[in-house]
Amino acid sequence: MAEYKCKYCGEKFAKPLDLARHVRMKHKRATKRAKKAAEAVTSTEQVNKTIEAIGILRGLQVSPNLSAEEKKLLGDVTKTFEGLVPK
Ligand SMILES: [Zn+2]
Repeated sequence: MAEYKCKYCGEKFAKPLDLARHVRMKHKRATKRAKKAAEAVTSTEQVNKTIEAIGILRGLQVSPNLSAEEKKLLGDVTKTFEGLVPK
């Protein structure tokens, strides 16, 4: 007899339909929610890190021992980072 094993918890089912129903009932909703939460955390962290980087770059830009070329380069990098932060 064929067995269909749940990839989430390892429970076995005789019919693929039973497995599909089990996954839908027991796992799908939770998985979706966890995924969404992880995405939210990741993007918030990324935005925070980007903002932090912009702050560091701005600080570097005003440092007195930089050449005009280096300042321009830093300015360009800062602009790129600023483009990554949602408005
Ligand atoms: Zn399961």
